Amino acid sequence: VLLRFKDSITALDGEKHDVIHRKAEVNAAVSAELFKMLEQEKIPTHFLRLKEATLMQVRRLRMIPVEVVCRNIAAGKLVKSYPFFKHGEKLKTPLVEFFLKDDKRHDPLLSEEHMIASGLASKEEVKKLKMITLKVNSVLRKFMLKRGLLLVDFKIEVGRDHRGTLRVGDELNIDSMRIWDKKTGEVKDKDIYRKGGRLDEVARTYYQSYKLILGRDFK
Ligand code: 5GP
Repeated sequence: VLLRFKDSITALDGEKHDVIHRKAEVNAAVSAELFKMLEQEKIPTHFLRLKEATLMQVRRLRMIPVEVVCRNIAAGKLVKSYPFFKHGEKLKTPLVEFFLKDDKRHDPLLSEEHMIASGLASKEEVKKLKMITLKVNSVLRKFMLKRGLLLVDFKIEVGRDHRGTLRVGDELNIDSMRIWDKKTGEVKDKDIYRKGGRLDEVARTYYQSYKLILGRDFK
């Protein structure tokens, strides 16, 4: 399967929409780098290779229509939903959550029981999904820390390959994770856009993230 990355950027379940010059190249390159790293750490992904700057060749997966979120620091929906999580507070343990991919219903939270009772995943798969997600967290967290960044949270999507093996699919870049500068707390991800940042600021954040994660200038 070939995945084409786009320059479009959306937020608020698609209500807000813009275009960021060369965002597709940044996101494809960052995703490729992070998927390669996961594969090296023996985490199965759909990644095969980057065919062109914005075109990724991947294995075909039957996707589970669920967003698997892992959080290390309280932010975003967690802070909005519950009174006992304060923005920026380190969680006592990494938290894995499942959300149904359904913009019209604003991606409702799913318990493990919802996942199993609905047939979205088997009990064994739910256990594996959590294990994969925590391993991704541990690999990404260490990687980001070496680059002076805190991995606040991220979202992955997982599917089954032709053998039924669960693999991390979709994309993995600053559209789907929160990263903050360790020293200054500065936001280095898509929240700049979600929170109404100017489009030139948003673009700068994407080019910076390329440099931070790949260790070379975006040219
Ligand atoms: P929250 O649930 O706080 O909105 O988001 C938690 C994490 O999941 C953040 O890193 C955010 O970027 C990611 N995330 C949540 N929903 C989506 C989504 O629909 N698309 C993408 N790309 N990332 C998401």
